[in-house]
Amino acid sequence: MPNDEEKAAGFARWRDAMGIKPICPACKSQDWIFKGLVALPEILDDGKLSELFASFRSIMCDKCGYVMLFLAAPSSELLDDDD
Ligand SMILES: [Zn+2]
Repeated sequence: MPNDEEKAAGFARWRDAMGIKPICPACKSQDWIFKGLVALPEILDDGKLSELFASFRSIMCDKCGYVMLFLAAPSSELLDDDD
C-alpha cells in the first residue's frame, strides 16, 4: 500500500499522462495539495441518496482552497488502493 507521498506522485503522473494542466480556475495558482479519496452518494430520482458511493480523488489549491475532483477508477492502477 503506497503512502500519501507515493499516492500524490502517482496521481501527478496520471494527471500529466492525461494532459491535465494543474492551474486553479479560481485564482490561477499552480500549487496543489493532494487530498486523497472522497466518497459521494448519488441523488436518486426520488430525491433520496443512493446506498452506493462514488469515489473521487481530490486535489486542493494551496492558495485559495478550490477543490478539483476526479473519478477514482481511471487512476487507480497508478495508486494501487482499494477504489
Ligand atoms: Zn486557487
